[in-house]
Amino acid sequence: MAEVLVLVDHVDGEVKKVTTELLTAARRLGEPSAVWVGDGAEEGVARLAEFGAAKVYVASGELNDYVTAPTAELLAKLARDAEAAAVLVSATAQNKEIAGRLAVKLDSGVLTDVVDVDADAVAEHSVFGGAVVTHARVRTGAPVIAVRPNSIPAAPAETPGEAIRESVAVELSDTARAARVVERVKQEQGARPELTEAAIVVSGGRGVGSDDFSVVENLADSLGAAVGASRAAVDSGWYPNQFQVGQTGKTVAPQLYIALGISGAIQHRAGMQTSKSIVAVNKDPEAPIFELSDFGVIGDLHKVAPQLTEEINRR
Ligand code: FAD
Repeated sequence: MAEVLVLVDHVDGEVKKVTTELLTAARRLGEPSAVWVGDGAEEGVARLAEFGAAKVYVASGELNDYVTAPTAELLAKLARDAEAAAVLVSATAQNKEIAGRLAVKLDSGVLTDVVDVDADAVAEHSVFGGAVVTHARVRTGAPVIAVRPNSIPAAPAETPGEAIRESVAVELSDTARAARVVERVKQEQGARPELTEAAIVVSGGRGVGSDDFSVVENLADSLGAAVGASRAAVDSGWYPNQFQVGQTGKTVAPQLYIALGISGAIQHRAGMQTSKSIVAVNKDPEAPIFELSDFGVIGDLHKVAPQLTEEINRR
């Protein structure tokens, strides 16, 4: 069976959920091999094997000092050596750049914002902010596929084996060394779950009315949820931009998404419309968010959300 390379997303040795989703998709295309760039691989190998990785290529050391170009060179080398059937990465801004560079090196093609992929490497992807779904297939070479987090449900392999670890190195070109990371600053997450991995997300929009997001945060905390924000709220400086949900923010697909004072613009929907249940609180009965909501409350969020928080905390 042909190898399918999966670039691992990890934080401090912990494999991110999106990687388990990519491995699930990779199993449809061939035999998954994970590619780990950076330290901490020994902690993640078992998790990768659980989701079907037969091999884990580990490149640590110098490669970690750079951003996109060296990883693209590494993946190109591995893909050529293994005659890989495809390369899968998560559709983050950084990985989409890696995907583009890699496709050029492999003389193949890249598909981004993919939400599903079948055994023939036909990818479904979401374009124009989720308004149109298209199907596409790369016709030459090993396709490079950037998959959106939370699009493909992760499932452990039926017969997980033990992933073989293999250290790899790549001779970096001058181009790859052009930009070096000088500092990494960890974004404070607080006690709340990571936005893209949370089972419940409570987001606030312009309707919150000020940078006092406590009405959103209190409801989120009562539910053990992550906090998100619309771009209007982020652009107003009310909430940090790493919490923006939407086309130019994060994509989330929690079990429950609660939108407080968010109108439901197409660019916001693009980041949350695949949530399992959507609840909206909006004072405008005509707000487009109600078109995709499972439950809607027409009312002032500053009255509704605190009542909801109080009731949840009471139980
Ligand atoms: P508004 O559209 O102003 O809606 C506010 C809502 O709050 C209204 O429906 C109003 O009825 C309601 N409201 C007001 N007061 C209350 C109250 N007291 N109680 C209850 N309801 C109340 N947007 C994103 O969110 N994410 C993106 O990633 C994103 N990317 C974009 C990319 C591009 C290229 C472009 C052009 C736009 C993008 N946008 C994005 C912006 C998007 O078009 C909208 O402008 C934005 O989503 C609106 O945010 P909002 O719903 O909070 O604000």
